[in-house]
Amino acid sequence: MSPLKRIYHKDAYDTGLPVGSYWEAVTPAPERDPVCEGDIETDVAVIGAGFTGLSAALHLAQDFGFAPVVLDSAQVGWGASGRNAGFNCMGGGKISDAAYAKRWGEADLAEFYGAQVRATEVVAELIDAQGLDVDAQPRGEWLMAHRPQDYAHFREEAAFLERISGVRSEIIPPEALRDHGVNGAGFHGAMWSDVGFCLNPRKYVFGLADALRRAGGRIFGDSTVERIERLSDGRFALHTAQGRVVAEKLVLAGNGYNSENLPDWMAGRYTPVVSHIMVTEPMGDNVLADQGWRVNQMSCDTRKMLHYFRLLPDGRMLFGMRGTPNLGPRDRWRMPNAVRADFDAMFPAWRGVRTAYHWSGLICVARNLVPYVGPIGDWEGAFTAMAFHGNGVSMASYSGKVLAGMVAGRPYQEPLPDAMRAEPRRYPIAPMRRFGLPAAFKWYGWQDR
Ligand SMILES: Cc1cc2nc3c(=O)[nH]c(=O)nc-3n(C[C@H](O)[C@H](O)[C@H](O)COP(=O)(O)OP(=O)(O)OC[C@H]3O[C@@H](n4cnc5c(N)ncnc54)[C@H](O)[C@@H]3O)c2cc1C
Repeated sequence: MSPLKRIYHKDAYDTGLPVGSYWEAVTPAPERDPVCEGDIETDVAVIGAGFTGLSAALHLAQDFGFAPVVLDSAQVGWGASGRNAGFNCMGGGKISDAAYAKRWGEADLAEFYGAQVRATEVVAELIDAQGLDVDAQPRGEWLMAHRPQDYAHFREEAAFLERISGVRSEIIPPEALRDHGVNGAGFHGAMWSDVGFCLNPRKYVFGLADALRRAGGRIFGDSTVERIERLSDGRFALHTAQGRVVAEKLVLAGNGYNSENLPDWMAGRYTPVVSHIMVTEPMGDNVLADQGWRVNQMSCDTRKMLHYFRLLPDGRMLFGMRGTPNLGPRDRWRMPNAVRADFDAMFPAWRGVRTAYHWSGLICVARNLVPYVGPIGDWEGAFTAMAFHGNGVSMASYSGKVLAGMVAGRPYQEPLPDAMRAEPRRYPIAPMRRFGLPAAFKWYGWQDR
């Protein structure tokens, strides 16, 4: 039995269960990485082969000459990084602008927006520099108003976004949605912002791993780190079932797949939240026209209980949402119908279109609703980044780069607001925090009315 303490049903962490994602079907896995065996010494060990861990390792290898060893419980991209919706968008926090400014000030809020824009650019730079083919789709993000009052705020929001981040937006009135190819039931207008793009996340994460291997890093799969020991000389010994990695520096990049006791500092400082995705069968131009949807850019609605959707390169629609407080057999049985019901309500013309794939994964939220990038408590030489609040394609890649600078002791000239440096506080009654999720979902749902 795993010595790791986790707060969700064991199925959520079972690397033997099929994920069942569309990305697996269109992007087959490369050769498996070997299991970590015996004693290995290195300058930096990284736990987690997702965007955070791989970006940190790649930047450490390329920019600072480290020889990183990356360990994952499964294989590259098994966590959220290989199964997300592929939106390389702004985001990373869930806090309102007003609450952020009140707590950390206007200047820090501007820095946070700066980090979000840079995060989308860092992804583009990585893709470019490594020559990755990630099926990138056209630039831009659509925000669909689900109530007239949300539409009424768009003009003000667009002006604010441009002022604080330089990102330009356009407002589309409800009667012009079909002409713009973004028609759905219950949309009361849209805001298009000139930032980010969609990609195939599995191609992107595999591309980062390949780049790391080329830069001299090593990746071990099926190698859960069960314990981190602090040696008397200050180094870290990472114990797996069959091996031990001794490293001078440590990066922990487990995000929603973290544990309460790896290390104990982590207990209660993060909350995994389940996100679900369905993908339809391919639709021809006529079926797409029935609904009046033709754009293939990132799209989401204004709900707090967010829906996110995109048209895939092969004419399928991807549609995602949150909504279960666990990931056991009951949730996996219940959610496909719940997701389908919301999809049908939003896109009624596609009721007859079959669901071809459905899968789920864990994102990560923090009590202060902003990501964290920084040290692990008072452990000198150990760092982590987490809590991207469902927006980690850009923010995890970016945070990995920032982590690399911290590990090397040579910080990059990239924005890192105070809010993202603040050590995540523990949730009150932390062992029970998962049980608060249904009430939180209800509260958000009520606010969305
Ligand atoms: C369904 C879904 C849709 C999403 N859609 C989007 C989107 O469109 N855009 C966006 O920006 N973000 C999206 N996200 C969020 C985004 O995918 C994550 O924020 C991001 O992938 C986090 O990357 P990471 O590397 O920090 O963590 P992960 O990719 O989750 O990787 C963590 C890894 O750590 C490993 N691990 C944990 N503990 C150990 C251990 N003890 N030993 C060894 N290995 C360990 C796990 O096996 C895992 O592979 C989505 C997430 C989900 C689940």
